[in-house]
Amino acid sequence: MKIMPNVLDRQFFMFKDEYEKKALDVLNSGWYILGKEVSEFETEFANYIGSKNCVGLASGLDALWIAFRLLGIKQGDEVIVQSNAYVACVMGITINGATPIFVEPDEYHNLNADDIEDKITDKTKAILAVHLYGQASNMEKIKSIADKHNLYLVEDCAQSHGAKYNGKMTGTIGHVGCFSFYPSKNLGAFGDAGAITTDDDELAKKFKTFRNYGSDKKYHNEVVGTNSRLDEMQAGLLRVKLSHIDFYNEDRVRICNRYLSEIKNELIELPKIRNNATMVWHQFVIITDHRDKFAKYLADNNIFTSIHYPIPPHLSEAYKYLNIAKGSLPIAESLANKVLSLPLYNGMRDDELDYVIGKINDFKL
Ligand SMILES: *Cc1c(COP(=O)(O)O)cnc(C)c1O
Repeated sequence: MKIMPNVLDRQFFMFKDEYEKKALDVLNSGWYILGKEVSEFETEFANYIGSKNCVGLASGLDALWIAFRLLGIKQGDEVIVQSNAYVACVMGITINGATPIFVEPDEYHNLNADDIEDKITDKTKAILAVHLYGQASNMEKIKSIADKHNLYLVEDCAQSHGAKYNGKMTGTIGHVGCFSFYPSKNLGAFGDAGAITTDDDELAKKFKTFRNYGSDKKYHNEVVGTNSRLDEMQAGLLRVKLSHIDFYNEDRVRICNRYLSEIKNELIELPKIRNNATMVWHQFVIITDHRDKFAKYLADNNIFTSIHYPIPPHLSEAYKYLNIAKGSLPIAESLANKVLSLPLYNGMRDDELDYVIGKINDFKL
């Protein structure tokens, strides 16, 4: 048996007829950019999340950088972000010339709320909470810090579609929720796509203008914007997928509950679930001191895994200019050497899980 870290076609095959019908409808419609599918998707996604507004965009990175741009964050400003984030989270900040200030993660891989206040200066303008691996961050505490210091709170929900904190969906707690619909995300398109959610009507309007060259009315350009439009094909296919999101997320819970209850190997530390947080399991990330050996052992048994992420952003080539020395963020640096994402995808079968769990339980040094 061969097990890949992710398999994208099974989720398609589960509702193949619906996706195919929608694709043909869009092709036959003669309308391919900013039409009915996009506006219907925006309404349906806003309703699902429980937000007043949703604006479709071309990617998750666009959602992040445009959010910071429209909140007025610029060169000289500081934005707090977790040190083990995905590099795109940091790019959303630095594209605007602002400086990322890294705070180490808590035991749930999210921003450690207890360490934020030490890092706030007169230059701090915002906090970016990344709900990594499908689990909500400690939003009660993070929001109270943001409110107390008058900071914008931006949520990166690229991995947390449908995850809740205290019963409230991620993407509705801060000022803006930024979503990616990259194909491997819990709500994935069949190409690139993204969106923001916000209860601020003015801000939502600004996003709509900005994504389309700064124009609301054709050829009347109010600001220098960009081209970050969600297209009709992706929006249509996302509507089909959104109608099954709970089914897809429950399927991931089924798989991860088996991992949680059946993996028994003292060399492997299983992920923890925060009180009051729901987990939509974007990734199932284990920690082990013997990561590379474990990954090789699995690969030798035809089980392939991935690492989210092998290099923390501050040590990447791209961020050399920040001059953050190796050793300055020890938790993120250590996690980069110890985390491993087990195979996880919609439609993963019980015989595949039996095989993976059996091999994991047999691993020894
Ligand atoms: C995928 C991802 C992004 C970027 O989304 P794209 O659509 O690929 O631009 C940003 N943040 C996180 C946490 C992600 O997982």
